[in-house]
Amino acid sequence: METRATCPYCGVGCGVLIEHDGGRIHSVRGDPEHPANFGRLCTKGSTLHLTARPETRLLYPELRSVRGEPRRRVGWDEAIGSAAERFADVIARHGPDAVAFYISGQLLTEDYYVFNKAMKGLIGSNNVDTNSRLCMSSAVAAYKQTLGADAPPCAYEDFAHADCLLIAGANPAYAHPVAFRRIEDAKKARPGMKIIVVDPRRTDTASAADLHLAVLPGTDIWLYDAMLHVLLAEDLVDHAFVAAHTTGFDALREHVRTVTPEAAAQVCGVPAADIVTAARWWGGSPAAMSLWCQGLNQSAHGTHNGTALIALSLATGKIGRPGCGPFSLTGQPNAMGGREVGGLANLLPAHRDLGNPEHRAEVARLWVVDSVPEKPGLTAVELFRAAAEGKVKAIWIACTNPAQSLPELEVVREALQRCEFVVLQEAYRSTETAVFADLMLPAATWGEKEGTVTNSERRITHVNRALPPPGEARPDWRIVCDFARALGPLIGRPEAQCMFGYERVEAIFAEHAVSTAGRDLDITGLDYALLDAAGPQQWPFPAGADAADAAGRARLYADGRFATADGRARFVVPVHATTVERVDARYPLHLNSGRLRDQWHGMSRTGKVARLYSHVDEARIELHADDLAENGVASGDLVKVASRRGEIVLRAVASGEVRRGQAFVAMHWGRNVLNSGGVNVLTAGDFDPYSKQPELKHAAIRIDRI
Ligand code: SF4
Repeated sequence: METRATCPYCGVGCGVLIEHDGGRIHSVRGDPEHPANFGRLCTKGSTLHLTARPETRLLYPELRSVRGEPRRRVGWDEAIGSAAERFADVIARHGPDAVAFYISGQLLTEDYYVFNKAMKGLIGSNNVDTNSRLCMSSAVAAYKQTLGADAPPCAYEDFAHADCLLIAGANPAYAHPVAFRRIEDAKKARPGMKIIVVDPRRTDTASAADLHLAVLPGTDIWLYDAMLHVLLAEDLVDHAFVAAHTTGFDALREHVRTVTPEAAAQVCGVPAADIVTAARWWGGSPAAMSLWCQGLNQSAHGTHNGTALIALSLATGKIGRPGCGPFSLTGQPNAMGGREVGGLANLLPAHRDLGNPEHRAEVARLWVVDSVPEKPGLTAVELFRAAAEGKVKAIWIACTNPAQSLPELEVVREALQRCEFVVLQEAYRSTETAVFADLMLPAATWGEKEGTVTNSERRITHVNRALPPPGEARPDWRIVCDFARALGPLIGRPEAQCMFGYERVEAIFAEHAVSTAGRDLDITGLDYALLDAAGPQQWPFPAGADAADAAGRARLYADGRFATADGRARFVVPVHATTVERVDARYPLHLNSGRLRDQWHGMSRTGKVARLYSHVDEARIELHADDLAENGVASGDLVKVASRRGEIVLRAVASGEVRRGQAFVAMHWGRNVLNSGGVNVLTAGDFDPYSKQPELKHAAIRIDRI
């Protein structure tokens, strides 16, 4: 039999059909009816069935009462009771801000919703943040600063209408392969379509472009400002659109007046003529759209990277029409769903803001609680720094592996050691974070649980369960609700029984849908039955919306009215900055990190599939051949790679993709593969002031032959 679900890897959100016998998954195939992929899958998605291996799973709750001792198997009642007692004890001694949840863009929307409600509505802290902070938060801040709401305005179908596609800081050929197939299809159907790629590396995506702008790390803002300079100089700005639908253009025009292509070329390291060509292609194309991802987001000025890019769409009126607009790709499968339910330290459900008293009051009414705390919670890097300083005493981590994926790993490890109590809710037994856990709770994973996900184009899919989870593993939402009900009476909140009394996961979705009424992402017209009958839907989908009218929801702002108070989009004057960490004589190389084609995140899932090593079979650092020679290293030698924070050992290989003075290490390999740890031993925790997203994309390093 076959069960409908989605691929749990990237934000393309491909539909899959899981072929199983109720006890075992035999194969997967792309869902031909899913609008994200129409049956296609990439290498990762098509090998999902090979990842369903019980021997790699955490099957039973495990608890230890003394650090350093092995955990022992316990029953669920003891596990949940113990967690509730330990959290209640910390709250009683140190207050609610001494506990925290650190969750994941791989959770389903319903899981996210109850985690958020448990921290903000029950415990009384906003200390719930997520690995989506590492992925998307700069895009969120950029959308809100310019368009007024965290709402990607485009759809995948726009690729087929764009005459110019500017791909900035993204390598969809590897990271979003099925979306890239649609880009290739568009180019094939209309060879005149211009593809520009902005990336320090000559990736597979860059190789397919008509123009590759190999900018120096961290210099994107100069590039987009210089493009705007050219658009102004050559009268390619849509002045009527700017006058009717935006504010703040005069200040930005003055700001870019001196950012000539020649000036930007000096900073960005790309020819001025190429900047002029890019601007002319963008401005001269009837329809132009941008596509961006971590190359822009994972920066200490990631928000302004985004606002500078979005300014190109606004200045030329290329938004709200087919083939137009700024479009952020989501790294994870459900970072969008997490944003929708407000599952971050500075957000509230349905795109409400924590800093807005009316929004807090609305959420308190929805949750039937007296109030929602005002003080912003700790974001990812802040949270682990606070734990390392002893300010956060108990942390609950779900479906993510911060001991590998966060920057400044030494701080993260210190934090996990210093915490009095660490809970890890996880499907897999062996992750870098597991060694720090006092309590491990076995979670259901892909194919074993029901709920919804939202992909990069705002499309919500109902994900179904094919099999029961192995051992005693449970769905994430149920674990959270059991914990909340056990904790409530211990902290004087007996109403937790009612607040978290959901018997079915669909009741959580229904509550979430109600919370969106009248908001920009209104989905009051959606329920599981409609999603099953009519298929995945893009938001907004208010009550009474017609599923057959999908075209009306494919893109936002078609009427030129934006989600700001005055309905006008805003131009933002960006701060000109490069990377926080500078190269110097001791650390002369720029390190960049990113994804491989066939691996996913920390490899807990893809790392179990032998055939996914056929593309790249070991951890390595890629450098220009001249840099290898200059350091007396031959391609294939082992080298010590050091930054100001730590060092790891990798095999060095010569690569034609990397410019002189730069290096690339894939993000996937961690301590499970490399005894010395992965790339984040090297990275720093500096983060963007608006989004708090850290600069994972860059560190200054050196290599030494060993
Ligand atoms: Fe999965 Fe992304 Fe590949 Fe689609 S493109 S199959 S969502 S990894």
